[in-house]
Amino acid sequence: MAEVLVYVDHVDGAVRKPTLELLTLARRVGEPVAVALGNGAADTAATLAEYGAVKVLTHEAAEYADYLVVPKVDALQAAHEAVSPAAVLVSSSAEGKEIAARLALRLGSGIITDAVDLEAGDEGPVATQSVFAASYTTKSRVSKGTPVITVKPNSTAVEAAPAAGAVEALSVSFSAQATGTKVTGRTPRESTGRPELTEAAIVVSGGRGVNGAENFAIIEALADSLGAAVGASRAAVDAGWYPHTNQVGQTGKSVSPQLYIASGISGAIQHRAGMQTSKTIVAVNKDAEAPIFDLVDYGVVGDLFDVVPQLTEEIKTR
Ligand code: FAD
Repeated sequence: MAEVLVYVDHVDGAVRKPTLELLTLARRVGEPVAVALGNGAADTAATLAEYGAVKVLTHEAAEYADYLVVPKVDALQAAHEAVSPAAVLVSSSAEGKEIAARLALRLGSGIITDAVDLEAGDEGPVATQSVFAASYTTKSRVSKGTPVITVKPNSTAVEAAPAAGAVEALSVSFSAQATGTKVTGRTPRESTGRPELTEAAIVVSGGRGVNGAENFAIIEALADSLGAAVGASRAAVDAGWYPHTNQVGQTGKSVSPQLYIASGISGAIQHRAGMQTSKTIVAVNKDAEAPIFDLVDYGVVGDLFDVVPQLTEEIKTR
């Protein structure tokens, strides 16, 4: 069976959930071979094996933390030479997409970004994408070189499937460009204690209907009762009520959680573009004609200042 390279997103050996999703998808098209780089790379092996990695290629070097993405691209290229995979899968984070694009260029390969599903095809892996502000679903495959595919986090349910996960050291020689852009400092964002927006299983978002920065406390309370991330429409962000890092939509972040709750959001096409692939969508809006109700699984016509606190209280009792 053909091998499929999976680029591992981890923090000091702790594997992030999008990588487990990649492993789950990779198993549909071949045998996953994980590539873990940087500090703690070898510590990822046990988790990766649990989710189906037949092999874990590791390389630790200061360059991965000290410079921007090129050292990682060098390593993936080395792994590609070592394995000759049927595809390379990378998560659709900002960094992941840059790594994937640079790798595809080097390999002379086609690339598919922001896939939401993957299946085996006679002529190579077939990726599903949600395009044109999520108005269409397309299926495509790479017709030149090794397919490089980025996958949106939360697009697929993670399934464990224990495999050998044998650790092997990857031999990497860094290119002349690897040290071209040095990281000069890192300032961690103040933690809210909530999950990262693009990785959260549940997202609770507020829009113009929230009517003020201080009222976002209502949205945050509901989010906290569910262990969810907080999102916002552009109208709320432009009004200065919530940070741009939390904006969902065409010019914000794309989310695909299991549950998306939109409060006081009309459902403009640019907002839909960032959340329409959510598995279950719930909206609270006082206007029964609001376009968001066209795409919801459950809708509540009502004032969010009545509905959302009641919802929060109810959830807290369970
Ligand atoms: P509105 O459209 O004003 O809707 C507010 C809703 O709240 C209404 O439906 C109203 O009935 C309801 N409401 C009001 N009070 C209450 C209450 N008390 N209880 C319950 N409901 C209430 N938008 C994004 O979100 N993300 C993007 O990334 C994005 N990118 C864009 C890119 C471009 C190029 C352009 C042109 C626009 C973009 N927009 C984006 C803006 C988008 O077109 C909409 O203007 C925006 O999504 C509207 O935000 P909203 O739904 O919060 O506000």
